[in-house]
Amino acid sequence: MVNIRVKDILSATGGRLLCGSEEMILENISIDSRTMKGNDLFVPLIGDKVDAHRFIGQAFDNGAAAVLTSRHDAMDSARPWIQVEDTKKALQAIGSYYRDRLILPLVGITGSVGKTTTREMVACALSARYSVYKTPGNHNSQVGVPITISEIAPEDEIGVIELGMSEPGELTVIARIAKIQMAVITNIGVTHIEQLGTQDNIYREKLTIQDGLTEGGILFLNGDDQFLKSTKAKEGCRTIYYGTGENCDYRALNVHLEEGFPAFTAAFGQKQVPVRLAVMGSHNVLNAMVSLAVAAECGIPMEKAAKCLEAFTGFRNRQQIYQTGGITVIDDTYNASPVSMKAGLEVLGSITKAKRRIAVLADMKELGDNTLSYHYEIGEYIAEHPVDELVTLGELAGEIARAVKEHAPCIQVKEFMEQDPLVSYLKEELKEGDCVLFKGSNSMMLGPVAEKFYRS
Ligand code: ATP
Ligand code: MG
Repeated sequence: MVNIRVKDILSATGGRLLCGSEEMILENISIDSRTMKGNDLFVPLIGDKVDAHRFIGQAFDNGAAAVLTSRHDAMDSARPWIQVEDTKKALQAIGSYYRDRLILPLVGITGSVGKTTTREMVACALSARYSVYKTPGNHNSQVGVPITISEIAPEDEIGVIELGMSEPGELTVIARIAKIQMAVITNIGVTHIEQLGTQDNIYREKLTIQDGLTEGGILFLNGDDQFLKSTKAKEGCRTIYYGTGENCDYRALNVHLEEGFPAFTAAFGQKQVPVRLAVMGSHNVLNAMVSLAVAAECGIPMEKAAKCLEAFTGFRNRQQIYQTGGITVIDDTYNASPVSMKAGLEVLGSITKAKRRIAVLADMKELGDNTLSYHYEIGEYIAEHPVDELVTLGELAGEIARAVKEHAPCIQVKEFMEQDPLVSYLKEELKEGDCVLFKGSNSMMLGPVAEKFYRS
């Protein structure tokens, strides 16, 4: 944060200064009392298990400059204590207030799958001309977004912000804080269906990104998505479709995979630019097309943005590819949903030069009532797009194994409930020339397993 004093926090939050000076300068927001960056405002959040108000003392010990509190008892302190009704809402109000002081345009990215990858690729394409700020890590929540915005610096010329959603109403709140000029919806899948009930509900929720889209803004929609292809932006805003279909303004032609790496021609009007990506999987064609579209609408010629995109090699644990000891490892362990699991399997299938293709798949979490059938469908997909061997981790993934055994009995299947025997098995099993895909929900901790096979 730049040019923010305690008095600004008071006007942003409607809070009351219990002690300390209202002229104190604040440069950072911290919600973790253990890590202070300098001139921090410590915001104690109240979670299900922990009320961080009890860490206020520790925050001061670690150098916090000021604190928010929703309690009435202020310590006798020379440093400012700002009393607010609700610390999380106050944090959001600060994010919104700071956003109003920034003049740079923001691109907001939402969708069921591919937000982080798209954010990275859009930022990469925009970097052809601008100094770009982007959400660090995966800070896409009601807490993460205001903090992300508070970290934008005056020299940043454009920002790319990831906007997530895990419960109804959340996206509206964060989009309104971000006040974006461009909005991207990557797709409508079934991630978080447990909290939202139906795909229709997910669709309606995703559209609320427009609550934060400013007048004259642009809504970029995946024109290949069944839900999005006939969706229109709200009044006063423009719609741009990207994808492979004829309905798309920015369209990828002649899409094909060259040993897993997508190659295509990006077309807009009369203009055509050949592109070959360094990230795997045909879903990245869509991520690249929206990146080219956003960049073009920001005045960057497609050839220039494409050059930057061709150098993009992926983001942590999202289909990153490693070669060690003659074995090809695809680490796609960041997370898993039916859409992304199929995308991962498609990449595995495209490595035609591998002697054997082995899929190591773990449970996909948070899929609600139909969770078993979503897993079973992955098994059916494997039967239609066969691999040489399937290895599963977890009870739900066992349902993938069951479907494969029923529909493609020729595929070798091995099931595990725990990591250690899985690792021992793979150490024995993997041979030179094999290509192995690791994929599962974050909580299954498959990432460290995959790393054992390329970081050793
Ligand atoms: P989260 O909701 O956890 O923040 P996210 O939406 O940011 O997830 P990513 O982290 O970008 O998604 O990607 C998750 C997985 O989906 C990865 O395995 C990635 O390779 C795959 N993926 C990326 N883009 C797409 C896409 N457009 N369609 C389908 N799968 C995709
Ligand atoms: Mg993400």
